[in-house]
Amino acid sequence: MEIIDTHAHLNFTAFAKDYKQVLEKCRSLGIAVINVGTNYPTSQKAVEMAETENNVYAAIGLHALNIGQSEPSADIGELKDCLERDFDYALYEKLGRSKKAVAIGEAGLDYYYKPKTKTKFEVFKNQQLGILKKQTDLACELDLPVIFHVRMAHEDLIEFLEKEKNSGKDIRGVIHCFTGTLNQAKAYLDLGLYIGLNGIIFKIDLNEVILNLPKDRIVFETDCPYLAPPGISGRNEPSNIEFVIERAARIRKEQAAEVKRYSTENAKKLFSIM
Ligand SMILES: [Zn+2]
Repeated sequence: MEIIDTHAHLNFTAFAKDYKQVLEKCRSLGIAVINVGTNYPTSQKAVEMAETENNVYAAIGLHALNIGQSEPSADIGELKDCLERDFDYALYEKLGRSKKAVAIGEAGLDYYYKPKTKTKFEVFKNQQLGILKKQTDLACELDLPVIFHVRMAHEDLIEFLEKEKNSGKDIRGVIHCFTGTLNQAKAYLDLGLYIGLNGIIFKIDLNEVILNLPKDRIVFETDCPYLAPPGISGRNEPSNIEFVIERAARIRKEQAAEVKRYSTENAKKLFSIM
């Protein structure tokens, strides 16, 4: 394969009718796909798809917005279909033991829908951190990397990861859909993590970050069906990863073919894909 879409959701209902055709197109273009779960049903679906399709892999995890008490607002779409009060370690562990499960995630911190009072915010935050800890523990147990989702919470995630590192935990992984500052990117790089770039780079100015990332820590993703690059109407698809790579290459003043080559090497290394 020539490219790996390191973060896709062909396991979501947006692709329920035609994911087979979408995957056929991916294979014809040399694109392998990692489908990422956001709760138990979507994680299970990701594993099922990975076990029955070539060049398809799974990540399994509980997204912060799918935690039972975080009271997501209506506009997070199908994410709210299945809220889980806690991370069922044993249940997810079974999925994680599939040979095609290459990561835990998406897991992380999301403070977008944070409660207004300080006391409630503390409870909300601690619940997310507690569930994140269970998922990073599972990743360590299964020796898998973690796909981190983080929104409005970089400082807390960095603090969490530094604490874990100091206690001897070796957490590997990627900050998916990176939107932080250059300093935050550097903190993640110091922790040994990779940075995941997708179509959001067309929406917000991440040029300074993109320009300064070392070649050996960049991976690409689409986060489809979300974040379609400009000019694409409707849902995003893995094949649109080319546009993201081209844009990043332009910003970095490198050849797209070269960016494609090294980022695919990075993804293979991070997710142990041969
Ligand atoms: Zn996602």
